[in-house]
Amino acid sequence: MDRSASNMSVALFGGTFNPVHYGHLNLATELADYLQVESVRMIPCAIPPHREAPNVSAEQRLAMLNLALEENPALIADDLELKRAGTSFSIDTVDHVRQQIGAQTPLFFCLGMDSLMAIDSWHRWIELLDYCHIVGCPRPQYELPSDGVVADWIEQHLCDDLTQVKKQSHGCFHLCKIPLLDISSTAIRDSIKCAKNIDHMTSESVVNYIKQHSLYE
Ligand code: ATP
Repeated sequence: MDRSASNMSVALFGGTFNPVHYGHLNLATELADYLQVESVRMIPCAIPPHREAPNVSAEQRLAMLNLALEENPALIADDLELKRAGTSFSIDTVDHVRQQIGAQTPLFFCLGMDSLMAIDSWHRWIELLDYCHIVGCPRPQYELPSDGVVADWIEQHLCDDLTQVKKQSHGCFHLCKIPLLDISSTAIRDSIKCAKNIDHMTSESVVNYIKQHSLYE
């Protein structure tokens, strides 16, 4: 695919990435092709709003992300939330990227089902679709909400036809059907604590970095 076409869309995939793993990498790679975007920008958060601050520094999480993305030109590590002071609110991130790319370019904000289920607790969540489309990705053990405020919001903005979605720069909710791997950063951290092998969960370069810096022990 020619990713240099100037009218291509942009996709964002945020996370703590503590550490990045094949679940993230596989999904982001598949999303780049599925959405036909110029790149998927993977954005580590500085201070996550909804969870304890990670025990590994932002610089180390970013370093691992950069290592994992070395051989994948469709994926880019973007440190914009790390450069921003304070809590990493997604609304500020999509606002920032919207200003970078202009009003017309379709912008996708991609997130797994676990994050999506709690989106109504996010700062100014209802305004997100004023800046971008939201792409929900199924994750093992997590279901799309069937009632409540998030379910109503999804129903109101749902668009199954990606071609139609891409005719607009923002405002749609799209559910992708990319099969996801049952891997989590928690499982990696727990495995390290129990001295179990993590080679099947993340890239060799990340495994080596974790070992060199004695992370998660
Ligand atoms: P933790 O176990 O520490 O909670 P995590 O593995 O869920 O971490 P995050 O960095 O919190 O990873 O997640 C970033 C984004 O990646 C979220 O949108 C989440 O839904 C998604 N995600 C995490 N793991 C997977 C996976 N295995 N497959 C697809 N998406 C995933």
